[in-house]
Amino acid sequence: MKKYSSYLILFILIIFISGCTAKAPYTNRSQMILISQSQELALGEESYKEALDKSKVITNTKDANRVKNIGMRIAKVVNRSDYKWEFNLVENEAKNAFCLPGGKVVVYTGILDVAKNDSQLATVMSHEIAHALARHGAERVSSGMVTNALQTVGNIVLSSQAPELTQTFNIAYGLGAQYGVLLPYGRMQESEADEIGIHLMHSAGYDLNEALKFWENMKEGKNEGIEFFSTHPNSSTRIENIKRVIKDIKN
Ligand SMILES: [Zn+2]
Repeated sequence: MKKYSSYLILFILIIFISGCTAKAPYTNRSQMILISQSQELALGEESYKEALDKSKVITNTKDANRVKNIGMRIAKVVNRSDYKWEFNLVENEAKNAFCLPGGKVVVYTGILDVAKNDSQLATVMSHEIAHALARHGAERVSSGMVTNALQTVGNIVLSSQAPELTQTFNIAYGLGAQYGVLLPYGRMQESEADEIGIHLMHSAGYDLNEALKFWENMKEGKNEGIEFFSTHPNSSTRIENIKRVIKDIKN
């Protein structure tokens, strides 16, 4: 009986997941997303407020205005009426930037040392906006939800058949999921964000060659322990990937 109920849970899970596929913009990649757009926007709003509360937001300087102007130019081509865009420059030496669901973009002052001109700043902002548009955060949360659900179902199946296998299963779906599924998934999202970002930059009229220069600058600074790379695995493959996207656009 226990065995059948776990199959039933699995069956319901499969039905649930197959009803929740989304498509990433530009790349058209199918995605499994289990949280709604409105849940995601609410979460984004909340995290954004928290992040700003803890930060020193810079206003009315030349750089703060640059961030806003570039952001608005990209937002115009994104054309999402449900987004309430905001672009803030925050005092922080980390070479980083992020965009939360709903179009809440934060640029750290540290990245201004790497982004030497407007097109380079547009590169990193487009990349972050692309993560939000492609709902990469929601996708990660969703795969975490499925991993947990599978683990629960697996535990029921195994304990009803062979209790000694439970531990093995946990390793497969715990550590296995962490190192085998989630990390490469992150890298895939990175290159997708690069690809979408280049399209946004192109539509907004920025110089695409500056995107390559920006990532070269980031690469050079990598030895200095740039924090960006703790969340953004970088390699020469990123630059090669961007070159390919640019070539496709120009052809
Ligand atoms: Zn990224």
